[in-house]
Amino acid sequence: MSEFDIVVIGGGPGGYVAAIRGAQKGARVALVERDKLGGTCLNRGCIPTKALYYSAKTLSTVRKAEAFGVTTGKVSFDLSKAVGRKDDVVGRLVGGVGQLLKGNGVEVMTGEGFLEAAGKVRVTGPDKAGTTDTPGTIGAKSVIIATGSEPAMIPAFNIDRENVLTSTEALNLKKLPESLLIIGGGVMGCEFATIFSKFGSKVTVVELLPTILSTEDKQVVRVVAKSLKEAGVEVLTGVTVEDVEAGGGGEGEVKTRLQDGRVFTTEKVLVTIGRSFNSDGLGLEDLNVGMERGRIVVDEHMATSVPGVYAIGDVTGGMLLAHIASVEGGVAAANALGGSETMDYSAVPAGVFTDPEIASVGMKEKDAKEKGVEVKVGRFPYAASGKALAMAEADGFVQMIADPGTDKVLGCSIVGAHATDLIGEVALAVKAGLKVKDIIGTVHAHPTLPEVVMEAAEDVHGEAVHKIGRKR
Ligand code: FAD
Repeated sequence: MSEFDIVVIGGGPGGYVAAIRGAQKGARVALVERDKLGGTCLNRGCIPTKALYYSAKTLSTVRKAEAFGVTTGKVSFDLSKAVGRKDDVVGRLVGGVGQLLKGNGVEVMTGEGFLEAAGKVRVTGPDKAGTTDTPGTIGAKSVIIATGSEPAMIPAFNIDRENVLTSTEALNLKKLPESLLIIGGGVMGCEFATIFSKFGSKVTVVELLPTILSTEDKQVVRVVAKSLKEAGVEVLTGVTVEDVEAGGGGEGEVKTRLQDGRVFTTEKVLVTIGRSFNSDGLGLEDLNVGMERGRIVVDEHMATSVPGVYAIGDVTGGMLLAHIASVEGGVAAANALGGSETMDYSAVPAGVFTDPEIASVGMKEKDAKEKGVEVKVGRFPYAASGKALAMAEADGFVQMIADPGTDKVLGCSIVGAHATDLIGEVALAVKAGLKVKDIIGTVHAHPTLPEVVMEAAEDVHGEAVHKIGRKR
């Protein structure tokens, strides 16, 4: 039986990073993956959605070309080509992960991982890619479970993966649906609404809560809601879907019944709510690994209730974000090798790829209000930025939250072009406990979008140069 210091089960952004981190520390590491390396993020999540998002953005930029003095011919769009480009991007990255694992000396095993005991992993095949040379049982001083999550198959929605889709099928459509009803107005729902409305589908979003993107500040949501409306997206909030019925008439015949009696008929329905954790069939019950409604319970060291068994990423049910899975992977690998690292969730940036984008880190204004925490708020609009105007990206603003006593940066929300890139500066400030005056005192190049972040910081002190009327 082959012996390893660490065996990682699952090769997504949690698992492959954990494996590389372990190998960088000199450990003998094996990684077991039943499907493609890169997991949900590379194959069915972050990367494919963003590849299609940039096809959609390019299309809308070309349509606006006249405003820049550029005359184009008739503009057309081919979804199958956009999906082909997406597949190329994914293939390149998946191949890259394989090279990185190999280059770091990680032994990659294809097949299904199963915990026979705390220090024993059985690898059974064939895996989904059809490989049959599985190595049987391998020994592990520590095991890191990084098996991720999948779309939940909610019975009332009759998901058939042809007409009623999960995010996975929505990324691989061959033909653009004329009409698409999206169940769920959260991050995923709004990203798909942005993409498909720009492609030319008639999109309807149905959300149970009183607002889409309910975790964001109201003013932030308002900017995105306006742009979705302008793109022709119909957003229904505070409504419950009773059931979904596909088939009967083939294409264009999915009926979505709302609890208030309304019925919508669309070509496709996309369900973006609910993820189920991949914790079944791993042997966790027999080992008495602590679980809670399908997720693996871990402490701040990413350790489960069983010594030598760690879990990271989506399967632990925390923030379902790729970068969180990766950082947790590093913590678990260090601890599997005798370290005592802890996870710090105090400055986790999050992005939403709507148009304009949303990004946030740390405290939001609504969090402060809900908790009754007194904060200082600085706000600066993109419309007052020379760079934003030159780019024809005047919608949105940066909102900085600070502690009135210490001047420390507590958080920031950005809605506007490149928000997901801009948030990095503030994430560093929050994580390092920097003050608003540290951002103000940092020279920001002109003309750039980071100046909008700097002026929002200046506005906390009532000193933004390009904003009138704020009293000190
Ligand atoms: P996964 O990426 O799910 O990987 C788990 C891996 O384990 C899979 O490859 C699976 O095949 C394998 N596996 C499972 N069971 C076994 C077994 N028994 N044996 C062997 N292998 C097994 N996050 C962001 O941060 N930014 C985004 O923009 C973003 N966009 C997203 C868009 C969509 C449409 C979706 C669905 C998700 C998105 N996410 C995004 C979330 C992100 O993809 C996940 O948080 C991330 O992939 C979780 O990583 P993970 O390693 O925990 O699990």
